[in-house]
Amino acid sequence: MNLKTPINEVAGVGESHAKLLGALGIETIEDLLWYLPRRWDDYSKIVTIREAKPGEAVSIRGFVKHIANRRVKNGMNLTEAIIADNSGLVKAVWFNQPFLTKTIHLDDEIFLAGQIDFSFGQVQMANPSYELVKDDLESGPTHVGRIVPIYPETAGITSKWLRTKLMPLMKYIYSIKDYLPETVKNEENLIDLPAAIRQLHFPENPLQLKKAMERLDFDEMFLLQLAVLNARKNLSKEQAITVPYNEELIKKFIQNLPFELTTAQKKAAWDIIQDCGKNEPMSRLLQGDVGSGKTVVAAMVMANVASSDSQAVLLCPTEILAKQHFAKISNMLKPLDIDCALLVGSVPKAERDELLIKIREGELKIIIGTHAVLEKDVEFWRLALAIVDEQHRFGVEQRSALKKESLSTKTLPHFLSMTATPIPRTLSLTLYGDLDLSIIYEMPKGRQKVITRIIPGEKRTDSYGFIRKEIEAGRQAFVVCPLVEEKEDERKSVMAEYEKLANDIFKDINVGYIHGQMKTEEKELAMSRFVSGETKILVSSSVIEVGVDVPNATIMIIEDAERFGLAQLHQFRGRVGRGSHQSYCLLFTSSKTEIALKRLTALVNTDDGFKLADTDLEIRGPGDFIGARQHGLPDIKMKNLMNLELISRCRESAKHFLTKHEISEYALLSTKMSNFDKILNLE
Ligand code: ADP
Ligand code: MG
Repeated sequence: MNLKTPINEVAGVGESHAKLLGALGIETIEDLLWYLPRRWDDYSKIVTIREAKPGEAVSIRGFVKHIANRRVKNGMNLTEAIIADNSGLVKAVWFNQPFLTKTIHLDDEIFLAGQIDFSFGQVQMANPSYELVKDDLESGPTHVGRIVPIYPETAGITSKWLRTKLMPLMKYIYSIKDYLPETVKNEENLIDLPAAIRQLHFPENPLQLKKAMERLDFDEMFLLQLAVLNARKNLSKEQAITVPYNEELIKKFIQNLPFELTTAQKKAAWDIIQDCGKNEPMSRLLQGDVGSGKTVVAAMVMANVASSDSQAVLLCPTEILAKQHFAKISNMLKPLDIDCALLVGSVPKAERDELLIKIREGELKIIIGTHAVLEKDVEFWRLALAIVDEQHRFGVEQRSALKKESLSTKTLPHFLSMTATPIPRTLSLTLYGDLDLSIIYEMPKGRQKVITRIIPGEKRTDSYGFIRKEIEAGRQAFVVCPLVEEKEDERKSVMAEYEKLANDIFKDINVGYIHGQMKTEEKELAMSRFVSGETKILVSSSVIEVGVDVPNATIMIIEDAERFGLAQLHQFRGRVGRGSHQSYCLLFTSSKTEIALKRLTALVNTDDGFKLADTDLEIRGPGDFIGARQHGLPDIKMKNLMNLELISRCRESAKHFLTKHEISEYALLSTKMSNFDKILNLE
């Protein structure tokens, strides 16, 4: 037997258990050794019965003086036993485990572990762990008298079963290869991997357990940092087109704007323009709250690229947004005589063919579009800059799709990703640690605060009255629902709400709807009717979350608000408050749970996207930031992702390592790290 031995060849692992383990991805002895405890119960203190204090977690050792089952009131079975040592007696009781009388017999010597209680003057233990004392034990008892591992709960596999199977396998642990280089271990004063895994399963003492946890937490963050920094290192070896700063053009661009740029916008644009002046590809994230004015920054840096005879592309997640950007940016660039092209799925073939030629020959310098831009037959003459809007991570595949299509150069484009999702500091140093960051930290002057209110069920009717008044005053409203079609559950759907509002509550008002399952043309039509003011109320799924700009809309109603993440709610709210009228965000909820109200209250109390992102991260975990969890990804522990001290330590250590070594020289480390690459490449 060795580490690779299939789990079903291990003594005592039957077919049914092998199946259950298989479902957890455990196929071999090695996999099982990597199945680590979730927590530990410290029963290492072995005391005499007389010494035991009430409420204390201890182990005792004694002889069984009595054991029997009996039925109690509501059909429950009670197993009662009396255990004696030299100092006294303890009564043990177990509920609904009648089979115990078959394993524990009169006069057996036994360990019990758990909490001691005093009940009716008697020393008692309720549902204690137990283990018969055997003389041939080398490593001491498995389930008692030690710090006992508790494994993640999975139907059919108990911690006790796992401990029993794992104990005899401990000898194989020392064949596990340590992927962490000696230099790192020495510098960071870390214990070896096999020792750490051994201590995690069966800790010798709290200090050893702490060292083992430190080792694994370090590994997790170190590998992530290594993946992040190594990606960065590899990128710096690539070439990009250098785009000189065209001062005259930028001045002219700014003069033609109908507003004054904020300092933060200028600073962000300058960061980007400077990066594009280097021959190393830029990799930058432009983060600015909804409405902070990222589009104009994008337009400005694209204009700079176009003036140097290179090309820039702006990728948008939806056609609606691409069209809106195209209209706005074309307008901004008209005074500079720079043409833009719109490339989306719905462009007719003849027109598209013509566009592709102009892009291939470099005649068109600025292209705004959707993923349609990434199609194979779209070829660029000199692509210097690619901007992705409203997506906080772009895939390596997208990047290489664009690289492949550059014709006259073998360069990578400079990359800029724009997002309104504030990335908490801990995440910008980890999952986003390979990106440079520009933050638009202020809003344009004169913006009004959106008034946010939580509306419980009984206030719904009043709110409808308020909405009617606003609409009669000429304003418009969004109604966001979590579902498109009605389902079995209680959640509100776009279609049901639309029916209700259009046919009943606002019979006399023009109500429209929009959702992700509609055809593109239908969505366009619904949207343009709302933009033109024909539709007064737009019932929507979360598709409006991204980008859309309708300054006359002043009311944002969110149905079942507690179902959305805080960052997402903040995005919805950002759809209003864009014009000169006072705007409102009404959070409809029927939930009375404390956590739901706490989250919604956070939204009422702050319009600081960063604070909300931190709160969201604490409450919901990093899921919203990394996108859907994919199977097979290493599961980074939440507490590690929040631990700035650990992050800095590992980041420094990984940096230091990479300045001296190439990952390729370390095969084991490289394999281990590649799992973390996957996280970084998530969309
Ligand atoms: P976002 O950062 O959410 O993408 P937009 O780029 O859509 O924001 O800008 C929101 C609105 O603010 C637009 O109507 C835009 O014209 C306007 N805007 C941008 N910058 C300024 C500014 N410095 N002063 C006033 N209005 C601005
Ligand atoms: Mg935007």
